Amino acid sequence: MRHLAIIGSGPAGYYTAEAAQKHWGDEIRVDIFDMLPVPYGLIRTGVAPDHQSIKGVSRRYEATALTENVRFVGNVAVGRDVTVPELQSLYDAVVFATGAPNDRALGIEGEALPNVFGSAAFVGWYNGHPQFAGLAPDLSGRHAVVIGMGNVALDVARILAKTEAEFAGSDIVAHALDALRAAAISTITIVGRRGPHQIMMTPKELGELMHLERASPRVAPSDLPPEADDALLEPGLRKSVAHLRSFAAIPESERADKSVEIDFDMFASPVRLLGKDRVEAIELERTRVEAGRAVGTGETYTVPADLVISCIGYRSSPIPGVPFDERAGRFANDEGRILPGLYCVGWARRGPTGTIGTNRPDGFGVVEKIAEDMDGGALGPRGKEGRAGFDRLVEERGIEVVTFRDWKKIEEAEARAAREGAPREKFVDVEAMIRARE
Ligand SMILES: Cc1cc2nc3c(=O)[nH]c(=O)nc-3n(C[C@H](O)[C@H](O)[C@H](O)COP(=O)(O)OP(=O)(O)OC[C@H]3O[C@@H](n4cnc5c(N)ncnc54)[C@H](O)[C@@H]3O)c2cc1C
Repeated sequence: MRHLAIIGSGPAGYYTAEAAQKHWGDEIRVDIFDMLPVPYGLIRTGVAPDHQSIKGVSRRYEATALTENVRFVGNVAVGRDVTVPELQSLYDAVVFATGAPNDRALGIEGEALPNVFGSAAFVGWYNGHPQFAGLAPDLSGRHAVVIGMGNVALDVARILAKTEAEFAGSDIVAHALDALRAAAISTITIVGRRGPHQIMMTPKELGELMHLERASPRVAPSDLPPEADDALLEPGLRKSVAHLRSFAAIPESERADKSVEIDFDMFASPVRLLGKDRVEAIELERTRVEAGRAVGTGETYTVPADLVISCIGYRSSPIPGVPFDERAGRFANDEGRILPGLYCVGWARRGPTGTIGTNRPDGFGVVEKIAEDMDGGALGPRGKEGRAGFDRLVEERGIEVVTFRDWKKIEEAEARAAREGAPREKFVDVEAMIRARE
């Protein structure tokens, strides 16, 4: 028997477990640890609450979780409750699938002003991540600025723009729905350093902006490159740019009955955030794109900003003693191998790029590396204790482990507490989650 510890129960963690099962069959025991009492990482706390069909992927992870040789070990933070050397002494291999939970900083003056948030915090707030449930953003101002040209920026802008009725069927948490219902936001400016041909937003998500009840998107026609140039783009990006063109073509008469505007401010680089007691405006520098890169023109201007959310990427959390690439913000690794016996996968390996599905080949890839190291003798002989040894540690330390069976009880309690038409009302603090399994 071989024993595998996977740290993190998001997509990368579960795809790795699935790959390990396929590779070793009944010869492997897998423990998937998570610091939260609930599984699935960003499927629960990142993916937008109004995109329920995407969250359905967790059913696939559940099928893996319910097999005999895979076990969920919730409410255990590696680095806090148990150390990496301790896990290494018990398991043949340890895989970090810890994601990239920290916001990349903008690195500009005024970033610490009240009502300026990174997307990890803001998205965590509306999705009920216990770490951010108490964020309490002030939504009483009229102007929101969202920085970034990827799908996370689109998620944030869309959530700010929707009416209460548009959240029917979503699992947005009650505290966020209450705050959004009372919000006064009428302009959401999405700021990006480059232009239409460089956006990272995908067509389906952009297309949703055309169908919002009270909001309409606006793109300045002058920001659009000549239409003939679109022919050179890869098909996905070409479709995204087609959406931007249709936003630019919306007649003013159609905008008249919409009370919220989502304004794309492209070729604009944040210079500093201005304000006294909280953020009031953002200073931007006009850019132009040269060889695909944004270059400042020296021309600056300010845009009102009562709320700022930067969606410019994430960094992984280093773990003491584990080699970390500070510049890239992820574990130092060669195709998932940090050192023999120590691996990483998903966002902890690649950084915050790709879709949920991108993590699947990652999981299968890292299992190949582990198998190579095992077969080559680098992981030593069989005989490690695995989960039995960990359970002894739990006894000794009085760690309150949440099992997958416990999670199913938490899940049932969340479904019972749901608003009408919603799939669940999430518990937003760890204590409440733990109590719900009793
Ligand atoms: C706002 C947002 C929206 C997104 N929307 C989509 C979408 O619509 N479609 C799509 O395809 N992709 C989407 N993605 C991308 C997708 O969520 C990621 O590709 C995927 O979640 C990455 O998986 P992961 O397992 O590497 O990390 P995560 O999903 O972040 O999982 C990491 C897990 O590790 C746990 N953990 C961290 N540190 C420790 C520790 N020390 N001890 C124990 N546990 C720990 C965390 O609690 C977490 O459960 C979105 C991402 C974001 C941020």
